[in-house]
Amino acid sequence: MENTLAQDTKGKYFIKTFGCQMNMHDTDRMASLLVTEGYNPAEQIEDADLVIFNSCSIRDKSEQKAYSSMGLLKKDGKKKNPNLKIGFAGCVAQQDKKEVFQGAPHLDFVMGTDSIDQLPEILYRLNHGEEKIMQVGFDPSNDYSIETKVLPGKSTAFVNIMKGCDNFCTYCIVPFTRGREKSRRLEEIVQDVKRLALLGIVEITLLGQNVNSYGKSLGGKKVGQTFPALLIALQKMADEMEANGTTHPRGEGGRPKGIQRIRYTTSHPKDFDEEMIDCHANLNRLVPHLHLPVQSGSPTVLKKMKRYVPIELYKARLAELRRRVPGIAITTDLIVGFPTETEEDFEQTLDLVKQVEFDSLYAYMYSARPGTAALSLGDPILDQEKKRRHAILSEVQAEIQARKNTEQVGKVEEVLCEGESKTNANLATGRTAGWRIVNFSLEGSDLKPSQLEGRILPVKITDANTYALKGELSLL
Ligand code: SF4
Repeated sequence: MENTLAQDTKGKYFIKTFGCQMNMHDTDRMASLLVTEGYNPAEQIEDADLVIFNSCSIRDKSEQKAYSSMGLLKKDGKKKNPNLKIGFAGCVAQQDKKEVFQGAPHLDFVMGTDSIDQLPEILYRLNHGEEKIMQVGFDPSNDYSIETKVLPGKSTAFVNIMKGCDNFCTYCIVPFTRGREKSRRLEEIVQDVKRLALLGIVEITLLGQNVNSYGKSLGGKKVGQTFPALLIALQKMADEMEANGTTHPRGEGGRPKGIQRIRYTTSHPKDFDEEMIDCHANLNRLVPHLHLPVQSGSPTVLKKMKRYVPIELYKARLAELRRRVPGIAITTDLIVGFPTETEEDFEQTLDLVKQVEFDSLYAYMYSARPGTAALSLGDPILDQEKKRRHAILSEVQAEIQARKNTEQVGKVEEVLCEGESKTNANLATGRTAGWRIVNFSLEGSDLKPSQLEGRILPVKITDANTYALKGELSLL
């Protein structure tokens, strides 16, 4: 977590984040609250007066990682800095509650996923003598109203449109760690994004565990609170801002560029319908990228996961989407080694991957989670077998992905620059609208990669491998 505000402060903070975009967004929110409170970011954990571990419990491994990271401060963290305060947040905190304190005498507070906005109050209480604070309740009201926080200088923002999930897929812990589904009002989100546009944000990612069921807690279709309605309203708002001269597509005349790209994550195959395909075909600010986690290609496994959608329907919808939005990137998530997965089930997953030809995918090995329905099925597939299936799947996908990336060579892509490449300081890095990573040179320009952060630039693609594209700046 890095930012650059410097003020007279209460101290320095460091947040170590594990897990998904939802957690990264929660970290941004905590950071923003802390900056408002007068804290400054620390470059490294050793320099901080406040350390928060934002944990993830989606898999046993990620949970253990969060616990062991926190354990590293146990021995001498407070010896070195007697003022040090340590907090444990996120899904593991929500799941394990006061158990987190066991064996962690150095820990000052445990903060659940629905308590982030109470962080300043928790710190106030700690600074006034309270010890071992546990804040893990869910907000019982049906309302969900927030303002998106962004740190100064940012060009992208995550916008929570809803929280929680009512789907209860049998392997998933999220409904237990994030609670039941609640949506923010459409009008509030549009106003929030308008404000972000004026702050210089050019790309937003609408976040929800299942964005397609956005609005159900508010009355849904009957009252015009649906996900397609939200996408249309955001496009309209961004178009109007541009038409009224409030923003400018290239940021000229001192005006911000406005919202150029709208992303969303995550979607559920059962809800990805014709209306969503229409949105992708008709809304030019909605990026040509769909992340649609299918989890398995086997109908038997999908039924056991409580995620049954006919595979033929899934494929037909993706084919229709590709017909209406040529070149759209389609990505997915897959789980291998679900307790009942046979070799034949796994083969069906491989067939699906070969037929759909995803632009990229995230493959996970099944991990049994406490409290979930799948726990009763045991975890009979040995790690070694899970690893074997994972390796086969990765190999099949790598071949498809390398080929699809190579097809990009010669094209000029619009790349939102994220600054310097992590592996080569002479190269800039960024993402295409279709979510491909591009590392590109700035030959012929005096600018440094860091100066281009937040700009959308034309980049000629010159080379590709399985994971990224290479290119050169086309013009400035
Ligand atoms: S849709 Fe299923 S996998 Fe996604 S968060 Fe909800 S329960 Fe978990």
